[in-house]
Amino acid sequence: MRIIDAHVHVLSTYEPMDPFPDTGRVDRLLYLMDDAGVEKAVMLPVVAPFSPENNADCARWAREHADRLATMTDVALHETDAAERVARAREAYGCVAISYYPNSADIAWMLDEERAPLWQAFVDSGLVCNLQVTPPNYGTLLTLAQRYPNVPFLCNHLGLPSSLDPADVTYGGLDEAAALDNVFVKASAFYAAANTSWDPRCARALSYFTSLVNALGAERILWGTDWPPTSRHLTYRQALEVVRAFAPTLDDGQRAHILGANAAHLLGI
Ligand SMILES: [Zn+2]
Repeated sequence: MRIIDAHVHVLSTYEPMDPFPDTGRVDRLLYLMDDAGVEKAVMLPVVAPFSPENNADCARWAREHADRLATMTDVALHETDAAERVARAREAYGCVAISYYPNSADIAWMLDEERAPLWQAFVDSGLVCNLQVTPPNYGTLLTLAQRYPNVPFLCNHLGLPSSLDPADVTYGGLDEAAALDNVFVKASAFYAAANTSWDPRCARALSYFTSLVNALGAERILWGTDWPPTSRHLTYRQALEVVRAFAPTLDDGQRAHILGANAAHLLGI
């Protein structure tokens, strides 16, 4: 079974990990992947004042460790040159997707007519659009996915569901994505959805996971850790075992899809 971690950050200085800002070093990640039997990991660059060159850094690590690492490229999609940057990203960075953390609570602007060239750049490049989407923005995501059926959308961290009732079978309305074949969600950062973030068997986090699998199907879910932030709560190995060992309702085929096959297929790795 291929095991691919679809969400990590790699950077030598990561201020949010203070007082140990080098927690996210590439050598540590490769060691932890070996230890847990993880074949590959997908990096999401963090472009910040403490890491302004992280797109280029991640591109270099992906080249140096092509058998172990792949990278996304962070593009500020709200900026006026976003379409050109998406168009150039694969050649410039060898990326498999574009990652964007919105700078606004409401992302309805993504539907504005003047953004059409941005989405055309996604269509032309074939790159996956990786978004941080919260429940109030699920409607915008669904509209985007309907309007641009050739753009695959990948959401972070179970869709950040902590404001939802874990028993909500509609998963805040995201279940409508089951009818669209271009919406995917990462089962990552379980700590953010947990009551007890130190517990890899936290019932609340696992019930979100189960609801999401039931709503969308196992073919739409990609396991990831969100290392190194997750390391404040769980070991790297535990962040894998949340799904591999503790997810209660998966059969072997579903587990294989979620742990690696879906990432391999969607991202071409
Ligand atoms: Zn993250």
